[in-house]
Amino acid sequence: MSKENSDCLFCKILAGDIPADIVYESDTAIAVRDINPQAPTHVLIIPRRHIATINDIEATDQAIVGSLYSAAREIATAEGIADEGYRAVMNCNAAAGQTVFHIHLHLLGGREMGWPPG
Ligand code: 5GP
Ligand code: ZN
Repeated sequence: MSKENSDCLFCKILAGDIPADIVYESDTAIAVRDINPQAPTHVLIIPRRHIATINDIEATDQAIVGSLYSAAREIATAEGIADEGYRAVMNCNAAAGQTVFHIHLHLLGGREMGWPPG
């Protein structure tokens, strides 16, 4: 399904070449706990298909991208943070702080969130 990128950290996690704490798997995505968590729950929801940034999402990727939010709902419920609230955010390129160029939805919860983000 995915056009794997051998230089991509998340493609390596998807291939099982780098270990990760996997909390969710579907046909289109996996979710792993962030190695440097910024909240009590900090999960990265990663599509199996290598898409570098939001700018690279194609029309045919809409179901994949939508599935990231279905995963967020399921994981938030499993983590017990669905009702109190959580944040689901995707950074795009350098100014937003993107460091891994394979899109991923950050699911953050378990504490109060400030707005606007820094
Ligand atoms: P970005 O800055 O691109 O939006 O988010 C990348 C995230 O990946 C960061 O929150 C960072 O802590 C996380 N990360 C970096 N390397 C690894 C890793 O090897 N394993 C896991 N699970 N997370 C990682
Ligand atoms: Zn990748």
